[in-house]
Amino acid sequence: MWVINIRHWLNVAGTKAGVPQLRNKVKKMTEIITYATSIYAGVKEPAIPKCWRRPKRKPCNGKLDTSLDHKEAVINFYCPKCQDEGIITGWKGLIWDISNGVDSQN
Ligand SMILES: [Zn+2]
Repeated sequence: MWVINIRHWLNVAGTKAGVPQLRNKVKKMTEIITYATSIYAGVKEPAIPKCWRRPKRKPCNGKLDTSLDHKEAVINFYCPKCQDEGIITGWKGLIWDISNGVDSQN
């Protein structure tokens, strides 16, 4: 289980990876954030994010299940194919947070 505070991976402005080595990881995490918050906000749904794990060095590519707890500001993701799972925090108010401003659902 991964527990990721996305802000730890971002630059001070919170707009991109803080260091180049984190660029790919940030891209995957922000895909999940955009996807989960889009569903929450009831706006157009982007493509389901795919798993980026490489069990036994083969790309998993499972379609991630996500769930979002807006009150706790937590996004869970789970890969039904390889069972990889994690929690993302710190995403609220970032540019990838499509749910920004639709807190009325709480
Ligand atoms: Zn997987």
